[in-house]
Amino acid sequence: MSKLSRREFAAGLAAGVGTTVVLGAEAARPGAAAAGRTQPNGGKRPVVLASGNGFRTGATQTAYERLAAGDDTLDAVIAGVNRTEDDPTDDTVGYGGLPNEQGVVQLDACVMHGPSNRCGAVGALENCKNPSLVAKAVMDHTDEIFFVGAGATQFAKDYGFPQVDLLTDHARRVWLLWRETRSLKDSWGPGLDSPEFRKKLEARARRLRIPEAERERAINRILNPPTGTITCLGVNARGEISGVTSTSGIAFKIPGRVGDSPLIGAGLFVDGEVGAGGSTGRGEENIRVAGGHTVVELMRQGKHPREAVLEVLQRVVHNFRAFPDRLKLFDLSFYALRVDGAYAAATLWDRPAGETQPRQFAVHDGVNRLENMAYLMRRES
Ligand code: ASP
Repeated sequence: MSKLSRREFAAGLAAGVGTTVVLGAEAARPGAAAAGRTQPNGGKRPVVLASGNGFRTGATQTAYERLAAGDDTLDAVIAGVNRTEDDPTDDTVGYGGLPNEQGVVQLDACVMHGPSNRCGAVGALENCKNPSLVAKAVMDHTDEIFFVGAGATQFAKDYGFPQVDLLTDHARRVWLLWRETRSLKDSWGPGLDSPEFRKKLEARARRLRIPEAERERAINRILNPPTGTITCLGVNARGEISGVTSTSGIAFKIPGRVGDSPLIGAGLFVDGEVGAGGSTGRGEENIRVAGGHTVVELMRQGKHPREAVLEVLQRVVHNFRAFPDRLKLFDLSFYALRVDGAYAAATLWDRPAGETQPRQFAVHDGVNRLENMAYLMRRES
């Protein structure tokens, strides 16, 4: 194995170093990759669009019901995302999210209300399950937009948000396992492909009394530190549109690190006259292309949501023109919803590293379902 810096190695664990990159002819042309049943010219409304975990946790169902009942579009998508934030089995969002390096769960979120173009955001918020609601409170109760760290946590307390310990027992044990195995993240010791590497993780997991049924999942969290996050965009029958993005950020992040998710213009952007763009995946690469805003700007210029999301991904690829091999070390997804109900979602890679199934997103336009994402590049395992 070639020598990688600790950072490259850590990213490689997440993305599967050794994966062969195939930049097919399809990949070069946005709009040519597979994209499920995306409507070309507007769809039914209401429509709710979200990352795949929105389907599993009931977010798209709740958001759709609230839109259909005539609720404000922002209240509807936040109500959806609250289901994911409250769900301890999603360890990438809200309660039960995996903590930072020091074992502290810090949450990020932003919201944007299309009809008024108002927005709010919080970063590195502690002790509160629902950063999306705190972001909305920032929007509703202040003339400012983005609160972080101790200030955000105090603000949530002041406005009566219940103070809870966000670190579930499961997340704590996974973090302890990560901490004990950190020395495996350099090039010393048994390699990823060696049986000893896995055996060592299994032994440590047993010693930490991670129940057998949960052990496999915990070990995978160490081998593939998760990216997760939920982004949820909703348009009602009148064409009013809003969005929210909420996350616990990249697992085991350096304390204080905030990614793209709470950044208006990166993790989310909504223009009430055009549409909404959201993102999940490696935040650092999204920030460098201001993805949420760029998606919306491309739609404003007349691009279909599908062309818009693929073009933003091409900009990410362009940023790596000097070292294209590093693209395989991460993944990033964009979601676009136009005010007429047309939607699309695309991801850099056809499927998550080490998996055989395509990455999927959630949509509800009367039928709640998962669809395969469009993609720019294919992995060859
Ligand atoms: N975008 C999030 C971040 O960078 C992580 C993710 O979506 O998995 O914090």
